Amino acid sequence: MDEIAQGLDKSPGKAEFRVMTTPNSEKSRHGALTAEVLIVGGGLVGLTQGIALASAGIETLVVDRADPVRVRAASHDGRSSAIARGSSQVLATLDIWERMAAEAQPILDIRVSDGQVGRGAAPFFLHYAQEDLDARTAGPLGYIVENRITREALHARAAELPALTLLAPAGIAEMSRGPGAVEARLEDGRALRAQLAIAADGRLSAQRQAAGIKTTDWDYPQCGIVATIHHDQPHHSVAHEHFLPAGPFALLPMTDTPQGRPRSSLVWTERRELVPAMMALSEAAFSAELMRRFGGSLGHLREVGGRWSYPLSLMYAERIVAERLALIGDAAHVIHPIAGQGLNLGLRDVAALAETLVDARRLGLDLGGAEVLAGYPRWRRFDNLALMVVTDGLNRLFSNDIGPIRLVRDLGLAAVNQMPPLKRLFMHHAMGLAGDLPRLVRGEAL
Ligand SMILES: Cc1cc2nc3c(=O)[nH]c(=O)nc-3n(C[C@H](O)[C@H](O)[C@H](O)COP(=O)(O)OP(=O)(O)OC[C@H]3O[C@@H](n4cnc5c(N)ncnc54)[C@H](O)[C@@H]3O)c2cc1C
Repeated sequence: MDEIAQGLDKSPGKAEFRVMTTPNSEKSRHGALTAEVLIVGGGLVGLTQGIALASAGIETLVVDRADPVRVRAASHDGRSSAIARGSSQVLATLDIWERMAAEAQPILDIRVSDGQVGRGAAPFFLHYAQEDLDARTAGPLGYIVENRITREALHARAAELPALTLLAPAGIAEMSRGPGAVEARLEDGRALRAQLAIAADGRLSAQRQAAGIKTTDWDYPQCGIVATIHHDQPHHSVAHEHFLPAGPFALLPMTDTPQGRPRSSLVWTERRELVPAMMALSEAAFSAELMRRFGGSLGHLREVGGRWSYPLSLMYAERIVAERLALIGDAAHVIHPIAGQGLNLGLRDVAALAETLVDARRLGLDLGGAEVLAGYPRWRRFDNLALMVVTDGLNRLFSNDIGPIRLVRDLGLAAVNQMPPLKRLFMHHAMGLAGDLPRLVRGEAL
């Protein structure tokens, strides 16, 4: 057994999860811990990538600098995510979904309206309902799941896979990517070696920067305020999005509490300069602000368990591959959360890259070879670019109160609402079921 190995019991939540390796991992003649693929970043996207590759038998190391016990705590990330249907199929095929399904609230209806309650807002302009779908795609439009629950499910599944090693908390001190291999050294001095490195280290990706990949990026003058909201009335599986002058204000349905209390996830986009004041409001004053924006259709709205605020930005990497390197998730692209699609894009990166690598391995090809990697950007460029342009455009179009613009956008929404084929097209895109879909997104095994 590898002498680096510590704690081969991979049960999630145990301290052994912090530093571990598996019997399958080998030491090369250089004394390095060797795998076929090294993933830097074990967040929601990086760890899903590791699970996808390891479940197809590809030896994979995932390195994350965060403590896995700490990132599963409720205080770490207050966000819930809208998981599109295509993404739920990726997670189901990888045996992750079954561990989170009980806490995933299906979305059966989406109601989009323009303007603030009491300021002449129409009740809703655009209404997406599951009945609008054709038989081929019948079912929920997507699901709302707490990120904490998804992380727990990922860690539990990762712990079952002998081909997967999670090194965490651990940081990469240096990495070199040459014609023959990727070589890295951890901050604690251990050496790693692989055929390919995947950067899943988030928006500020050090691996992307080290590869000299340029980005297009800007900060939005907005932050997303996030909280879990308890309310008196049931949400009936409806997601609400009100477009207000500062940005979208969304209440997304969550599963009820064990006591049967209805809950929703708040994603409130607000002007950056106002956010510190909103975050400091008393519970009662915060409730009053919520009610002022949303109205009383769900009864009294009360935040529970804390508030978080996230500065919002856009980032697009000019390339998503370099020598023996591929970028996925927020390391490759960051978009506005207006349509709840950032994680979904990342999971489609995972599905496309996993299929590319698994097929290459079956042919006996070098997983880090340029010919193998070339297929990945070709597959992902359009989807990534299209969603960036659409979310940025929607945010610009809706985050203002200029009369003529408001008129045009409301006419546009009303027109879409009257055109079932166009509506269905938008719905298929939002559900992650449009375009050239990788096998995992279609719910097929790798
Ligand atoms: C307010 C808000 C709401 C959102 N809502 C939705 C939604 O409803 N639906 C949706 O699809 N998306 C949503 N998103 C987007 C989504 O949260 C992100 O796209 C997603 O979390 C990105 O995951 P990731 O794993 O790529 O990156 P990250 O979550 O940033 O993970 C990066 C990981 O890399 C690790 N790391 C970083 N540097 C290093 C290093 N040097 N060495 C080792 N490890 C390192 C970190 O510890 C971390 O674990 C939302 C975003 C915001 C801000």
